[in-house]
Amino acid sequence: MNNIKKAYYAGWIIVTPYKTVKNSYLICKDNKILNITNQKPLDAEIIDLGNKTLIPGLINAHTHTELSAIAPHIKQNKDFISWIEDIKRIKENMSNEQIKQSAAKAYQDLYNLGCIAVGDISTSGLTKEDFINSKLHGVWFKEYLGNEVDNYKKVKAIKKGKNISLAIHALHSTHSELIKSIKQSTGNNLCSIHLAEHSLELEFITSKKGKWKEFLDSRGLIYKDWQLPDTSPINYGQNLDILDNNLLAVHLLYCKDKDFKVLEHFNVNTCICPRSNLNLHNKLPDINKMLGYNLNPALGTDSLASTDSLSIFDEMKFILDNYKDIPEHKIFEMATINGAKSLKIENLFGTLAQGKIAKFLSIDICPTRPDNIIKEIILAGGHNIEWIE
Ligand SMILES: [Zn+2]
Repeated sequence: MNNIKKAYYAGWIIVTPYKTVKNSYLICKDNKILNITNQKPLDAEIIDLGNKTLIPGLINAHTHTELSAIAPHIKQNKDFISWIEDIKRIKENMSNEQIKQSAAKAYQDLYNLGCIAVGDISTSGLTKEDFINSKLHGVWFKEYLGNEVDNYKKVKAIKKGKNISLAIHALHSTHSELIKSIKQSTGNNLCSIHLAEHSLELEFITSKKGKWKEFLDSRGLIYKDWQLPDTSPINYGQNLDILDNNLLAVHLLYCKDKDFKVLEHFNVNTCICPRSNLNLHNKLPDINKMLGYNLNPALGTDSLASTDSLSIFDEMKFILDNYKDIPEHKIFEMATINGAKSLKIENLFGTLAQGKIAKFLSIDICPTRPDNIIKEIILAGGHNIEWIE
């Protein structure tokens, strides 16, 4: 895309999940979307895409590309602590180069799978340069855990819609003071956290006991001065003053109504990873309840160590198959608008509206009715897609 005005003619254009236009021209200039019209423009280069359908790039708001190298060595169907121990053991036997190479491939795969942006977590810090050099936008998070209170760095903007920031691993793995410090140092930038993901976390937060306590003991991690126990992970987050619109809370599997109410009150960004949740915890997030509390979750795949693919098309299809009462428009909204909002890039991506970046997907499907088109896009599973940029 350059400074010549271009008009992409397509059979269908999905402007937003709720606005579809037929036989129209998407007009772009200077890498921006100018407008959509059904009148053939006389002052633009016409690119005729025939019957194809144009959609916005998808957003994978939570993944860990740095685990791609170890994923083939992980045994599934183990308990959560064994899974964590497996990851640690296999990671120790990997070279930094292997981890970096697999992550670079994962960034390219994500793009090929129709993703325009990611929320990517890295504890090693090894994947930062490959994220910066990738075609993806979004946020790369350096993740911290344990008791290393002073060991964190500042956030940084790489370019429009591409940022470096910090993540807190989770409330049950990180010192209370470190949690507060990271959140404060990210300021108005996004900070990510795994929140209310599993039953051991809930048990530890509410009692400071149980299998997670034994696991921390076995790792020699001192937790006696963490500000625990508390009544729930969400309540603990509130007491640590980290709940706000700059927090991206991922998973939320173990939340009660009062927890969702608190997250809604603080306008916390949320992200769900249903396929990973089913594989690791044999439990699915209560998406209907989240929607009822206006939490509007984004979608993430989590890493290849807990799911089969990094495809948001696969995540959408899984929700379509497993949540019969959630309309396909809502699912598509999670993968686009909600994802863009959750990564704070909704001014650039998430829809094909005027002013957004002129980088979008063309899909070779031939829908017959506008009311069925989103479902057909999801069922197409990301095959026959092509980037227009
Ligand atoms: Zn994760």
